[in-house]
Amino acid sequence: MSPSGSTVVAGVVGNPVRHSKSPALHNAAYRALGLDWTYVAFEVAAENGHQIVEAMRTLGLGGVSVTMPFKQAVAESADRVTPSVERLGVANTLFWDGDDIVADSTDGDGFVAAHRQSFGTSLDGVAVAVIGAGGAARSIIEAVGRAGASEIAVINRTRSAAVQAAELASVAYVAEPEAVSACQVVVNATSIGMTGGPDPLSSPLDARYLNEGQQVADIVYQPARTPLMRMAEQQGATSDNGLGMLIHQAALQIERFTGLEPPVEAMVAAVVPPGGVS
Ligand code: NAP
Repeated sequence: MSPSGSTVVAGVVGNPVRHSKSPALHNAAYRALGLDWTYVAFEVAAENGHQIVEAMRTLGLGGVSVTMPFKQAVAESADRVTPSVERLGVANTLFWDGDDIVADSTDGDGFVAAHRQSFGTSLDGVAVAVIGAGGAARSIIEAVGRAGASEIAVINRTRSAAVQAAELASVAYVAEPEAVSACQVVVNATSIGMTGGPDPLSSPLDARYLNEGQQVADIVYQPARTPLMRMAEQQGATSDNGLGMLIHQAALQIERFTGLEPPVEAMVAAVVPPGGVS
């Protein structure tokens, strides 16, 4: 459907943002839903973060995804925030509720949905280890806590960040890497192992902490098989990368923007090459 005078415009704001996979994911979804919507990337100057909510209102945008460095600014300037954003202090989604613009965070719930789809199991009653305490880790800890994890061991290079992140869920605590051995689910939420990141060839964990039966979720998705995933497979654990989280956090945004059930399969097809990832 070509854009016309009545097309609803949505988009992602960030800086940089030109590399974003969000336009591919969202546009595939709107096409599959038969909606006259289009989704574009807005590269906004770093000092203009507090104007994004007003810009959405002025232009009547259908919904806005938010990435670095604006996640805090939009949480501060939205009309309302969800309970998750209240706890996290950052948001990745702006959507309409009547005349109000609400700031939400879908990263953590996107992780939980992706985990359920990839591994076929719930996180309810499960012991989880999260490595990392940055923005992504904080969202995951908060959401995994709500998903009913029995405990969340938070392991991070910088202890003070781990202490703050562990405050996001009542069952979370600061831990050493040894704690991973006793956890059924292990999450890498650091940038270690990411192509172009600070440490692309390393694993965030020593192999001796991984064992058969564990589910190892790396939220890094470039490369498709990360050093941690290779190590997990050698130890007999099952593993998955972060593409599912990327897809599901966008799917939840589409649900907030349109009120419709997101077409996840069409979104997968938009970002996974034919034949799957290797
Ligand atoms: P961030 O806020 O900058 O946090 C980075 C985390 O990685 C911190 O815990 C940091 O530890 C740790 N870290 C970085 N380099 C390290 C090293 N050499 N040794 C030990 N720890 C190290 O970043 P973020 O936004 O949370 O993103 C983290 C990763 O998740 C990135 O690779 C990003 O692409 C990915 N991500 C994926 C999705 C998805 O949908 N799949 C969504 C969001 C993010 P310190 O606290 O000690 O600095």
